[in-house]
Amino acid sequence: MKALVFHEPERISVDEAPDPSPGPGEVVVRMAAAAICYSDIRVYKGMKHAEPGVIPGHEIAGVVAEVGEGVDSVTVGDHVVVCPIVACGRCHFCLSGRRHRCLKRITLGYDVNGGLAEYLLAPAQIVSLGHLLRVPDGLELQRAALTEPIACVLNSIKACDLSAGSSVAIIGAGPMGLLHLLLARQLGAGTVIMSEPDEERREIANKMGADMVIDPRQTSFVDAVKERTSGLGADAVVVSAGLADVVGESLAAARAQGVVNLFAGFPPGSGVSIDPNIVHNKEIRLTGSQNASIEQYQQVLDLLPQMPQVDEITTHRFSLADATKSYEVRLRNEGLKSMVVMGD
Ligand SMILES: [Zn+2]
Ligand SMILES: [Zn+2]
Repeated sequence: MKALVFHEPERISVDEAPDPSPGPGEVVVRMAAAAICYSDIRVYKGMKHAEPGVIPGHEIAGVVAEVGEGVDSVTVGDHVVVCPIVACGRCHFCLSGRRHRCLKRITLGYDVNGGLAEYLLAPAQIVSLGHLLRVPDGLELQRAALTEPIACVLNSIKACDLSAGSSVAIIGAGPMGLLHLLLARQLGAGTVIMSEPDEERREIANKMGADMVIDPRQTSFVDAVKERTSGLGADAVVVSAGLADVVGESLAAARAQGVVNLFAGFPPGSGVSIDPNIVHNKEIRLTGSQNASIEQYQQVLDLLPQMPQVDEITTHRFSLADATKSYEVRLRNEGLKSMVVMGD
């Protein structure tokens, strides 16, 4: 089969790889779509580790092609998305239902082969944990492939304690920032304010329904948020850009007892100095979020049929033969999300 292979930082190529066949408990999925995550780009840049020789791709959807002995949770022809976390099922976190925090977790697309290929071999552990989730009837696989990033956004929004009418300020209107906007709206947020230096992205944020979108080079983020929230500050501030420098303003833009969630990954070795009295005096909850629970994957799958605007997040599509181009557009910061479409 054809597959995109990560060799080492700054070196990926589309290669011929052996066709997988399922052992006991394993499932082979014929891939339909795989979206490129900014984490894949961080791996490419050498800012995040992945095994040399691995097939990337963890934002994926496809059709079950073959099932191994003993598999009864899915059948050939099922449309599925994959929660890429291979969890042990037995550690402190797994036992309390938080498999994404598993102490021994490995992840498809980083440690073992992911789905930027014609076929994915889903390991037995993924299958037995229920991490192949069935796609609701009628939901297109290209939209379903975004289940993973949107589940991460749902986890972020949960960390923010968002409720009906909440005000949210989002730093960064890249694909993940915009998915925060769409999901926050879907879940009943009130005022949504976004900060983004790129003009094209600001326009998209406006079109997608943000109440206020500022250019942080022209306008003070903190002042804008305060102005829009009657001087209070936002109920929640999400940092969806890997810039450590913005942490200080995020704390200043949150209301007393508000939440600041660090959603983006930051360059290794990033440091930031903050005034701890802001956290103390305003009783701010400073938190982070990464990944999502399997319950959140399921919730997103059930929501996606109602979220057609999600399709606008994917601006570039490539065939598997051209899969390296899906990285190139992200490296050039062109458009929003790029996706490799294998067919179906
Ligand atoms: Zn991702
Ligand atoms: Zn575990």
